Amino acid sequence: MSKIVATAVMSGAAKILADVKEKYKVILNAKGPEFETVFPGTAYYLPMIFALTGVKIQKLKDIGNFLSYAEKLIHNPPLEKNWLPYLGDALDSGLSTLMLEEILMMLKYIEGTEPKEGYLGFLSDTQMRTLGIQLVDGRMPGFAAILGAPKDAKAAVKIVRELQEKSILIFLSGSSNGYTMKKHLEAEGVEMGWDTYIVPLGEDTESTIYALDWAIRSALTFGGLHGGAGQKCLEYCRDRVFAFGLAFGELDDLKYATGAGAIAMGFPIIADTDIPEILPTGVCTYEELVKEKDLNKMVSRAIEVRGVKITVSKPPIPVLYGAAFEGERVRAVDVAVEFGGKYTKAFEYVEGKELSEITDGKIEVIGKEIDEVEEGGKLYYGMVAYVAGRNMQKDFEPVIERQMHRLINQAAGVMHIGQRNIVWLRISKEARKNGFKISDLGRIVHTKFKDEFPSIVDKVEVHIYTQKEEAEKYLGRAMELYTERDKRMGAMTDESVDTFYSCTLCQSFAPNHVCIITPERLGLCGAYNWLDGKAAHQIKPTGPNQPVVKGHVIDAVIGEWKGINDFVYKSSNKTLERFSAYSIIKYPMTSCGCFECILAVLPGTGGVMVVDRTFMEMTPCGMTFSTLAGVVGGGQQTPGFLGVGLNYLVSKKFISAEGGLKRLVWMPAQIKERFRAELLERATELGVPDLLDKIADEKVTNDIGKLIEFLSEKKHPALEMGELV
Ligand code: SF4
Ligand code: ZN
Repeated sequence: MSKIVATAVMSGAAKILADVKEKYKVILNAKGPEFETVFPGTAYYLPMIFALTGVKIQKLKDIGNFLSYAEKLIHNPPLEKNWLPYLGDALDSGLSTLMLEEILMMLKYIEGTEPKEGYLGFLSDTQMRTLGIQLVDGRMPGFAAILGAPKDAKAAVKIVRELQEKSILIFLSGSSNGYTMKKHLEAEGVEMGWDTYIVPLGEDTESTIYALDWAIRSALTFGGLHGGAGQKCLEYCRDRVFAFGLAFGELDDLKYATGAGAIAMGFPIIADTDIPEILPTGVCTYEELVKEKDLNKMVSRAIEVRGVKITVSKPPIPVLYGAAFEGERVRAVDVAVEFGGKYTKAFEYVEGKELSEITDGKIEVIGKEIDEVEEGGKLYYGMVAYVAGRNMQKDFEPVIERQMHRLINQAAGVMHIGQRNIVWLRISKEARKNGFKISDLGRIVHTKFKDEFPSIVDKVEVHIYTQKEEAEKYLGRAMELYTERDKRMGAMTDESVDTFYSCTLCQSFAPNHVCIITPERLGLCGAYNWLDGKAAHQIKPTGPNQPVVKGHVIDAVIGEWKGINDFVYKSSNKTLERFSAYSIIKYPMTSCGCFECILAVLPGTGGVMVVDRTFMEMTPCGMTFSTLAGVVGGGQQTPGFLGVGLNYLVSKKFISAEGGLKRLVWMPAQIKERFRAELLERATELGVPDLLDKIADEKVTNDIGKLIEFLSEKKHPALEMGELV
């Protein structure tokens, strides 16, 4: 490695050490050694330090002890004469820099100077889990940490748009000569936030640690690795987290030192200035430090160096397209034309046809096109997509239809909300100016259906009805189809099929985790039900969703079958011998990390509580969602705890081995409201129609003692059912 780089890294590390020591002294004086050091929303203490060394920094005094250790990792700059090109020293200093940056930001949190206004600062465990499936299924193929900014705002936008179109999540930190990406993007009117894949962390170089903290936590959350397994955590990042850095402008010592830390994690850096490159492969998968002075080539160079696999294909429409545009809103003042909502009716459906009945690629708008309506006009909207294919089945209609929302929403300047007959759709003036037409909605559906369901869909023909009478005529057909389907799905039980589906999509992050998806229990991420599994298998027979024949029944009560056990054993890399579908106590299903909610047994109540990942407060089990998630994740079986999809709460098979819904004693109010009707139905079937009033929520209490009082006052059935553990 170049001596210039090594020298810069080591003096950068020494500088941050001095900064930390100074600030630590001040804060320690002000707050005392027992003052707590916690980042918001994480169960992993100071995650980088915890992952790399196993040290749990919980109080200010812990930092003092740790500093001497970090100091030892920083090597002296290479001597003038006997200099050996030793990369290891620089990487150690880089990792030390990251840990010191983490401490510095912690101290700034205590001081009240972080996060800076308009920036996100430290990212919570929940923010990571929420993206779980996108990370593993390739929808979000990589992450870019942008350090600093190019001089020109237009160039900045171009780079960000290029990343967005490739669905790469972008973290922004640092500045270059006073320029920041955030200011550039604001000036150019680019919407930032999780929804648009642009996450501004902070203006300091040290803010980069927030992105790296996020990456290293995936090794703990999804990888099932323990704090202190430093080398393994670094390898996990290199092999599974497809991140890279883009550095703009001159690099100072601290930027070099931070970059060296990122490289040690396997993340290469692409810089736009004349830096000495580090090209031998090994620490990263390919090269480590690369220069690319042509801004137009920087993104593609980074993708190549990191080996990011991009699979997104763009439909032939005149606006940008990609998952990063999915969350973007179209405000009332920017609307060119609107469908549904308060004003008109809007619906969508997919219907299977014979191959001979439809013409592939035919897209018809029946009624007005975008250039025939006045500004901000309202139209009816009925999108009917006919699909045909040799392997098409009636059961796949809803699976394909469910994708319409996401696919249409991914067009820049198009806002799509809801599904079936509660669609609400807006097309922006900007999109219209770029030449976007109503018929382009059909083009999106045509291209993407064939792209995402290649072995099911051979032909797609789309009719879009924007004229009232015509639209209403097809709405009738839509309602018929919806009812028919609900009946079919509702009648389906675990007993009515002999085959379940597996999902091992999350193994790219949690190597031993397997979901078994049954008609009455969906995947724990909430994104895959039994029909989705079936369709996915049809699309990709060797993919992550495999049919699993139940086989001989071992225990009907807990839901244990010979065929399922054999499959789970094999596909969990022989880590799991027994599996039950309906019990939280006996051989419960494992959890990867992207569960929508967690069930936990509450000793003393005879019952269980449930908490979903949006609930931030304390729960009666004495842990927040984040802390609980740390206990449950990583592909392990944890009796007494279970990660599940939200819809499982209203399934007849909801922990039926233990008595089902009658065991539920506490849940967040928001979930209770959202599922009120279905919960009521289940409760009535179980003979306790007033069960919902007996289940506490955070408005009643978050405290286990008070909860028990409440339960006895209300005579909650769980109290009588006996302890679960
Ligand atoms: Fe991951 Fe299970 Fe969801 Fe599949 S169903 S994506 S394995 S959580
Ligand atoms: Zn998962």
